[in-house]
Amino acid sequence: MTTTFHPPVRTLMGPGPSDVSPRVLSAMARPTIGHLDPEFIRMMDEVKTMLKNLFKTENELTMPVSAPGSAGMEACFVNLVEPGDKVIVCQNGVFGGRMKENVERFGGEAIMVQDEWGTAVDLEKVKAAFAANENVKALAFVHAETSTGVRSDAKALCELAHANGALAIVDAVTSLGGIEVDVDGWGIDAIYSGTQKCLSCPPGISPVSFSQKAVEAVQNRKTPVPSWFLDKNLVMGYWGGGGKRAYHHTAPVNSLYALHEALVILEEEGLENAWARHQKLHLALRAGLEAMGISFLVDEESRLPQLNSVVIPEGVDDAAVRTALLQNYSLEIGAGLGALAGKVWRIGLMGSACTQRNVMLCLDALENTLASMNAPIKVGVAAQAAMAVLAE
Ligand SMILES: *Cc1c(COP(=O)(O)O)cnc(C)c1O
Repeated sequence: MTTTFHPPVRTLMGPGPSDVSPRVLSAMARPTIGHLDPEFIRMMDEVKTMLKNLFKTENELTMPVSAPGSAGMEACFVNLVEPGDKVIVCQNGVFGGRMKENVERFGGEAIMVQDEWGTAVDLEKVKAAFAANENVKALAFVHAETSTGVRSDAKALCELAHANGALAIVDAVTSLGGIEVDVDGWGIDAIYSGTQKCLSCPPGISPVSFSQKAVEAVQNRKTPVPSWFLDKNLVMGYWGGGGKRAYHHTAPVNSLYALHEALVILEEEGLENAWARHQKLHLALRAGLEAMGISFLVDEESRLPQLNSVVIPEGVDDAAVRTALLQNYSLEIGAGLGALAGKVWRIGLMGSACTQRNVMLCLDALENTLASMNAPIKVGVAAQAAMAVLAE
């Protein structure tokens, strides 16, 4: 007979999901109530208000899509891209490639701006793409490329989009909660994120926000939105402010309790403090890794604190190390994706997993594991190097 599933307790320092705090887990275990219950609706309004604060926006169309980050991505493209629309898509990793897929599946023309994996989106190339193409409807880019650990200049990219009369569509799945995201300040028109990266919720919800300009673009479509579930005109009847809520779909009630609690925790800490924590612990991890002789893939100015891509030392068996970390330390770190498979590890410091304890655990576990495999690293120095940064 099949028995109850009890997952092992892990420390999640990969590219997501990240560790979920006990407070969020216990919120999720509270009694399920009806999704049109007045108490649930009150909670939904609080979630919406907290998401607006988190995105730094007044956008009325700000809400959690009831599906993972990929659905948030699709919600942006399916609503904003019509057949024949030109969209400049920046690709410097895995997720830009998915944006291209989305544009093309909805009948748009994706004008690709390619940058090497591990580097930021090149503003000059984007300028050139605008100069070479007229009537571009939108510029789409990934703010924090989780596949490589790169941060691109979202503010400057949004400025380029607006200077050329285009909407700015931004993937903030990994950036939100870990580094600055300023939707109104930067003029982002459509943005999507995910709960399981720096918000440290279970996966399955995608916060999104549309500017007034984006809402108008949806309302002025010549063709109906080809997805019923993700059609913003319909979802707004459910999540929209000030009034009666019409049934659209059954909200994932308990997952939204979890998101509510995670947002409360983030408000208690303060958004700026959360960004500072990610930065400080990234610097501590970096000091330890570099003392060991492990180097970063990404240039300093484009590094994401919450996703550290490090080069696997010569002759080291990638999978054997990750398996040993999991077996001996119950610690998960991420493998490289695509062209970087076998070449890098991706060490996440996301949300609740971004703690001093995890930094020290990861350094200790990596050092012991690599030393046991006779890898070319320096032993006995990483912990002190990290502690020196933490003491600053
Ligand atoms: C994780 C991630 C996604 C996809 O989110 P899912 O919740 O896995 O669907 C999209 N973009 C980026 C940058 C991500 O890191």
